[in-house]
Amino acid sequence: MARYTGAVCRLCRRSGEKLFLKGSRCYTPKCEIDKRNKPPGQAPGAGKRRKRISDRGLQLREKQKARYSYGTLERQFKKTFAAAEKQPGITGENLLVLLERRLDNVIYRLGFADSRKQARQIVRHGHIILNGRKTNVPSYLVKEGDTIGWREGSRKTEYYKTLVENIEGKTVLTWLSLDRQTLVGQVLTMPTPEQIGALFDAKAITEYYSR
Ligand code: SF4
Repeated sequence: MARYTGAVCRLCRRSGEKLFLKGSRCYTPKCEIDKRNKPPGQAPGAGKRRKRISDRGLQLREKQKARYSYGTLERQFKKTFAAAEKQPGITGENLLVLLERRLDNVIYRLGFADSRKQARQIVRHGHIILNGRKTNVPSYLVKEGDTIGWREGSRKTEYYKTLVENIEGKTVLTWLSLDRQTLVGQVLTMPTPEQIGALFDAKAITEYYSR
């Protein structure tokens, strides 16, 4: 299955809420959800009432929200869920932590990108070094102690220079640290569900796959 390349705001409209997939635009009045919170395909004049959805439909919606948020394909998401199931503890929480540990997400969390989609592109284009070595694998799962920085050549780009100027105002989650001079991040601990503050219900996703 190919990666979704359509208008990402449609994914928020389909979910009925903001998933913050477009970086800074999500915080402006241009946000599609703020302008017209209607499912895609619904006529502009139609009422605001949405169809009643079944429990199964609600579980599916939570699963899709998680998938859209982290930008993963269905097959990849299912594999992550299977890995979460094998770990001790609560599957939904394990899933959340596994998604959060993705390298593209960490790039986003460190403030190196405005959205996870952009973060994935940065990794894919080979701008990132992980523990001193170049990587282009967005799905790599970071571990405690990993360091994430920029490749020497990438430090000369306009993007990097603008980032250095703007990084001061960005906040970093407490399981990560960031040296704002060198733009090198480090994984201090594994993230906890509380630190992640997910926009979806991980328990509903477990129920979705349990049937
Ligand atoms: Fe979703 Fe952001 Fe588009 Fe708003 S602007 S609909 S939050 S992706």
